Amino acid sequence: MQNINEIDELVKLISKLPGLGPKSAKRIVLKLINNRDELVKPLAKSLADVYKNIVRCKICGILKSNSIECNFDDCKIVEKKYNKICVVENISDQWSIESSNIFSGYFHILGGTISSVGQKKEDLLINSLVERVKKDNIDEVILATSATVEGQTTAYYIQDSLKGIEVKVTKLAQGLPVGGEIESLDDGTLFSAFKNRSNLISNSD
Ligand SMILES: [Zn+2]
Repeated sequence: MQNINEIDELVKLISKLPGLGPKSAKRIVLKLINNRDELVKPLAKSLADVYKNIVRCKICGILKSNSIECNFDDCKIVEKKYNKICVVENISDQWSIESSNIFSGYFHILGGTISSVGQKKEDLLINSLVERVKKDNIDEVILATSATVEGQTTAYYIQDSLKGIEVKVTKLAQGLPVGGEIESLDDGTLFSAFKNRSNLISNSD
């Protein structure tokens, strides 16, 4: 392949995407170049829109568009629809659980786990979770962190942070393979994990 800076640069960027190596990146770039008007132009616009408009809520961690209010309007639930919060590590976990239709309730995205490389508990949205549970009359917090050491350490820390608050805390248990990451589970496994969630703290009122 002859060296054309623009193409080299694009191949380099695309090969950084998950699941893509230099070979598939080159194929994608060729496809793009051959479809300038149908693909390159709308893609460039779409990327610019995402860059400009999509932000992560600093309280609940969900992705939202600047043009749309967060469901929670600064995360105070305006119209209380649910009484459960499902706590996950990443947005991809939220998307997996949402698409399986197992859970109806609010999501809280931590933004990682405590012992991820370079990730401290202060970097995660744990304090804002505790605040939400206190303010929003939540009945149950479902800890849906992965069955990895990091995921379980994080779940334990959250459980500890919620002590003393009148709320039931449950954790996905049976059905989760050891080392299993939420986003990689099939719907059946997720369903069973939700159904068989175990009680960590009972609502004591
Ligand atoms: Zn929010």
